[in-house]
Amino acid sequence: MDNGLNNSRKDFPILDQQVNGEELVYLDNAATTQKPMAVLNEIMRYYEHDNANVHRGVHTLAERATTSFEAARDKIAAFINAPSRKTVIYTRSTTEGLNWVASSFGNLVVNEGDEIVISELEHHSNVVPWQQVAAKQHATLKYIGLTKDGELDMDDARQKITDDTKIVSIAQAANVMGVTNPIKELAKIAHSHGAYMIADGAQAAPHMKIDVQDLDVDFYAFSGHKMLAPTGIGALYGKEDLLNQMPPAQFGGEMIDFVHHQTASWKELPWKFEAGTQNISGAIAFGAAIDYLNDLGMDNIEAYEHELVEYTLPKLVAIDGVTVYGPHDPAKHTGVMAFNLDNLHPHDVATGLDMEGIAVRAGHHCAQPLMEYLNVTATARASFYFYNTKAEADHLIESIEAVKEFFNNGAS
Ligand code: PMP
Repeated sequence: MDNGLNNSRKDFPILDQQVNGEELVYLDNAATTQKPMAVLNEIMRYYEHDNANVHRGVHTLAERATTSFEAARDKIAAFINAPSRKTVIYTRSTTEGLNWVASSFGNLVVNEGDEIVISELEHHSNVVPWQQVAAKQHATLKYIGLTKDGELDMDDARQKITDDTKIVSIAQAANVMGVTNPIKELAKIAHSHGAYMIADGAQAAPHMKIDVQDLDVDFYAFSGHKMLAPTGIGALYGKEDLLNQMPPAQFGGEMIDFVHHQTASWKELPWKFEAGTQNISGAIAFGAAIDYLNDLGMDNIEAYEHELVEYTLPKLVAIDGVTVYGPHDPAKHTGVMAFNLDNLHPHDVATGLDMEGIAVRAGHHCAQPLMEYLNVTATARASFYFYNTKAEADHLIESIEAVKEFFNNGAS
């Protein structure tokens, strides 16, 4: 049997278990991915040998911890081709990164009457922070619409982004519609109007090669836990001159240069934004996750996942009574497949699939404006990663048929 990209399943012991008497098929990777032994071992190694607070001590453990913590930053910077390690800031997650950009940078550059442009397919973490900025600054929040296929409507983008636009913030890969968005082109449009371009990379960075300089984005946020690292660690890239203009979002220890009784000054980049004790083991483990992804090769990951989509999507679309959201052309679809079954609530579908050992998500996927746009309350969602196999895709398809049969006929 196939065993994931480069036989990778052996590195993920969690995948080797039974759920409800069936082999686990983990297809909830858009929510969070599983962690390979290399990442788990690195966390263990750090706590067994090097645990200390970073940047503070002159003792050997503190120096070792600091070296690993900063080496992981270099790996993350190289992974997204950031021009300098100074431009990569540790965060808790994509959510935190986007919140910092909105509250610190957004509130700096957005004024009354200005416009912020997002899209109909955004995750709440790229919607709600901008609602807050718009309300505070008396600015307008505009949404780029979608085509009939569920792709970003670039004609609408060209209309909505104007000289009044100050911020354009769009997901590079969508967490429901299964599309990637042309961030480089959007950045060109935004910049031609004097606006800043922000990309939500949560669903893109785990699956494809990212080059923030080629994309020419002003900020790029992503989460470690969606790319093999633990929860609670993420990164925010920003152009150096903009990060220098942007005030820190949090204040306290570690981020200061000098504190007087009434005033304080900040450290240089990137530490200016890293207040308090950081998620040191998480950052080091993020570095190990990036090593693992680099060993597989991001181009290989993208190609293999595309093969899985080509194999799975047409079968899913062909099931009678299934609605698949986003484009039905596999060339345009990522490994995130949201769907509904006629007459069935997605929670029932997900529960039925769990009985078959298959983990999928059901709900609004933190995209309620999109659910309104699609006129549904929720969907089921299967999302693939490089350790998934065609055999698992087959099991998903057979099990959806079985769930449909059970609820529509067997249970009546
Ligand atoms: N943006 C997108 C497109 C996402 O899919 C997610 C996670 N579901 C987020 C942002 C938020 O990521 P996190 O919860 O790690 O902050």
